[in-house]
Amino acid sequence: MKLHEYQGKELFSKHGLKIPNGVAAFSPEDVQAAVERLSSANPDLKKVVVKAQVHVGGRGKAGGIKVVDKEAAVDAAKGLLGMDLKGLIVSKLLVEEAINIDKEYYIGLILDRAKRKTVLMASAMGGVDIEQVAEEHPEAIVKVWIDPAVGLTQFQINQVIFGANLPKEAASFIKVLYEVYSSYDCNIAEINPLVVTKEGQVIAADAKVDLDDNALFKHAELMQYHDPAEVDENELAAKEAGLSYVELDGDIGCVVNGAGLAMATMDAVKYGGGNPANFLDIGGSSNPAKVTAAMKILQRKKVKGVLFNIFGGITRCDDVAKGIVSAVEEMGGIDIPIVIRLTGTNEEEARQLLTEKGYKVGSSMDEAVKEIIALTHA
Ligand code: GDP
Ligand code: MN
Repeated sequence: MKLHEYQGKELFSKHGLKIPNGVAAFSPEDVQAAVERLSSANPDLKKVVVKAQVHVGGRGKAGGIKVVDKEAAVDAAKGLLGMDLKGLIVSKLLVEEAINIDKEYYIGLILDRAKRKTVLMASAMGGVDIEQVAEEHPEAIVKVWIDPAVGLTQFQINQVIFGANLPKEAASFIKVLYEVYSSYDCNIAEINPLVVTKEGQVIAADAKVDLDDNALFKHAELMQYHDPAEVDENELAAKEAGLSYVELDGDIGCVVNGAGLAMATMDAVKYGGGNPANFLDIGGSSNPAKVTAAMKILQRKKVKGVLFNIFGGITRCDDVAKGIVSAVEEMGGIDIPIVIRLTGTNEEEARQLLTEKGYKVGSSMDEAVKEIIALTHA
């Protein structure tokens, strides 16, 4: 679960990190009230920064961050609210006292699955996209891997501070960042930029936090941060229907029973030269409603074709067949190719039902994969 910047900053601040004074706002009136609050806290306030709160990076470059005179905050907010920022509509803002940036640094903790460790990264080239720095100036990023059994050591903090030329005050930011990262089971906790102001203050000007969904049950207090507006519509529909679904980049929809077979199917599609649009496991039990839900998700994703790969064990092939038939009927027909491979329990019944309705049914996985690739890449 991704957090908004204002939520991440709230977490950081609770743990003692310095963040700019700020207030979340959801309407121009809120922004006016926020400016008044910030002004009463700081009578010298002149400039504020109005920041779009959406789950994308690079908001600055995309026009989602406005540094303006406090009198112009409401107008800036009106320009941001409703704006399309990299495909997401802005409905939430963060209004902050503007800071005088002298230097921008990057510090981040990310789970490195390949190394089975968390990697601490730091760079003096902060403020910009860290992916871009990684590509153009890989030498400017210092990385150390944290052994989960040992935790982050002072030695490692020194390593990145000296290695990346960070101010010594960054040490406490790294410590707290790690505290937040490990105590809330994060996949990512990142401050970009960590700012040194012209007045010499060190402050977290941005916050990116991504929590491990599988550990959320341990942190009930974080559920207040859940923003249904930011959840992918398809992943939500899949969750409600009890499907394991992961969206991918390709165009061949895969409906499979069992996680292992789903992985094998994706491999086979890739191996055959196609690109799977998703991982989808309809589960071991057979339930036509699940098939219908799966078909609807794939239709919304606008796949070029759908491959069913069903191995009937506990799952009964005829139940899946019923699901396919009723899903397509409910959708008023479907104009993309469907290739069905099923084998196992009640295979004969399924085959009969589907053939009657005009579907072609195979029992070889290899052939089915070849066929869907041929049909979608014609
Ligand atoms: P991101 O682009 O989505 O990562 O959003 P950030 O919160 O990192 O903001 C992008 C950039 O806007 C920062 O790197 C700063 O250069 C600038 N910025 C953000 N807050 C302030 C501020 O208070 N004052 C000034 N002058 N610039 C700011
Ligand atoms: Mn940033």
